[in-house]
Amino acid sequence: MGARTGKTYIEGLRDDRHIYVNGELVRDVTQYPPFQGVIRTLADLYERQHDSTYQPLLTYASPTSGQPVSTSFVLAQTWDEMEQRLRGERARCEFTYGLMGRLPDFMNAFVTDTAAIRPLLGRRTPQFGENAWKYYELCREQDLCLTHTLVDPQVDRSKGVDAQEALRAVKETDAGLVVRGARMLSTLAPVSDELWVGPYMPRKPGEEDYALSFAVPMATPGLKFVCREPYDTGQSRFDRPLSGRFDEGDAIAIFDDVLVPWERVFAARDVETHNLMAPAFPGYLTLQAVIRGTVKLRFLTGLACLVARAIGRTEMPRYQEMLGELIGSVELAEGLLTATAHDVLYNANHPLGTEEARAVTSAVSRGVMPGLGTLFGVSGRGMVGISAVRLFFPQAMTRAIDTIRLMGSSGLIMTPTEKDFAHPDLQEFLPRHLRGRDMSAQERVRVMKLAWDIIGTQFGGRQFMYEWFFAGDPIGSRIVYYGTDRRKECTALAQHLIDSLKK
Ligand SMILES: Cc1cc2nc3c(=O)[nH]c(=O)nc-3n(C[C@H](O)[C@H](O)[C@H](O)COP(=O)(O)OP(=O)(O)OC[C@H]3O[C@@H](n4cnc5c(N)ncnc54)[C@H](O)[C@@H]3O)c2cc1C
Repeated sequence: MGARTGKTYIEGLRDDRHIYVNGELVRDVTQYPPFQGVIRTLADLYERQHDSTYQPLLTYASPTSGQPVSTSFVLAQTWDEMEQRLRGERARCEFTYGLMGRLPDFMNAFVTDTAAIRPLLGRRTPQFGENAWKYYELCREQDLCLTHTLVDPQVDRSKGVDAQEALRAVKETDAGLVVRGARMLSTLAPVSDELWVGPYMPRKPGEEDYALSFAVPMATPGLKFVCREPYDTGQSRFDRPLSGRFDEGDAIAIFDDVLVPWERVFAARDVETHNLMAPAFPGYLTLQAVIRGTVKLRFLTGLACLVARAIGRTEMPRYQEMLGELIGSVELAEGLLTATAHDVLYNANHPLGTEEARAVTSAVSRGVMPGLGTLFGVSGRGMVGISAVRLFFPQAMTRAIDTIRLMGSSGLIMTPTEKDFAHPDLQEFLPRHLRGRDMSAQERVRVMKLAWDIIGTQFGGRQFMYEWFFAGDPIGSRIVYYGTDRRKECTALAQHLIDSLKK
């Protein structure tokens, strides 16, 4: 089949999935009003793959069928192949202004990472390695849209995984693995085709039932998704320029004795393999996250410039300083992106060695910040990308949002609705009192509403949460670095100076 059209994507969503929203079991997600905006956005992206202007950018010829397929499946091992990924993924992020963390590209990259580590997955059970490869080919050839779920529910984090009502294997049959429990937090679930379940917290010996990775269609019997309240409340594009187009939806996935066929299992009841999966990834998924972060930072920086212009303060040194800092962050982001691409290429050509794997396993068994130091990267084997998404982007985006808030001030709040602008009584007043320096009142309010939708609405609040949490717990991620050799190197350097003073 190859790259899908928007129409086939929408048709694929009409199945027996169990999506609960606001007390309702939604029978057809394509007809549910709050999901229409994001479905249209995704359908447009799929459609572009068939537009002759974009096809060369977004697709490449499938190595098996020769059909155009998404570049986010390129198993890049050379710089030319890497550039194919970079161009395609960047274009899709730009079409969506970096506002969709779960563009299909994200999970395509995840599945590509999983395919790349098939020797690891198959080392004890060869079928699991083959399954990962076949699943990668299936996703690539059918252009499936995936959601994923990694994190155990937050029931009582003072206790172990068995206290969290987490997803676990409860039975094995000839047909497959029966799983029960729940996982958080499946972004894009309502409008995806498949759910991918993978590792996050490393498991300890004794937690074998929780050491799982597999994928199932959304409409699998026993699988239920309970969504958070949607942010698209039907307001116009003028009033809510983002909420109505980019609200991806988040859900808790509940597995009520779900049968996972063996051919869809990538790791099961094998703690060591489960814990090695993410550290062994080349990092295509991290790269996609860095591309998206870079594009979003560019968008926020541009928006801050528009807000300053709307109120006539672009010549003020204080404003130039604030904007200059954001532009400097964009420069840094672009550098981090290039560095990440080189790291990923290195990793793709140097699979995790036996010694590194042993070090990871030993770190996890010693409970080094419950093994997080080893999640999605191994020190000394390219940590730029994961450091960028965990440290740099959350801070840079917080700074951008604070800057927009400071600059826009009351203008962000005083934004009459589209209907107010149409009211005959107000025709004389709104254009006069709400105009900007070189902008009509409507144009100025458009800028401020866009800014408010990213910093102040429910949509904006969730975006902020997303940047801080999507790559894991921000405190743990920082403590991780304390355990790496970098600390020893840095300490040795400072100690060297002190020692040199004694001579
Ligand atoms: C908007 C959004 C979208 C998401 N989408 C997805 C998705 O699509 N798929 C998916 O799998 N996951 C998703 N996540 C979940 C995300 O991966 C988790 O939120 C993240 O890993 C943190 O885990 P947690 O929420 O369980 O928080 P916890 O681990 O419970 O942490 C809660 C707080 O406690 C702090 N903390 C934890 N340990 C310590 C400690 N030892 N000492 C001090 N403080 C500590 C943390 O820093 C954090 O501030 C999403 C999250 C958000 C907010």
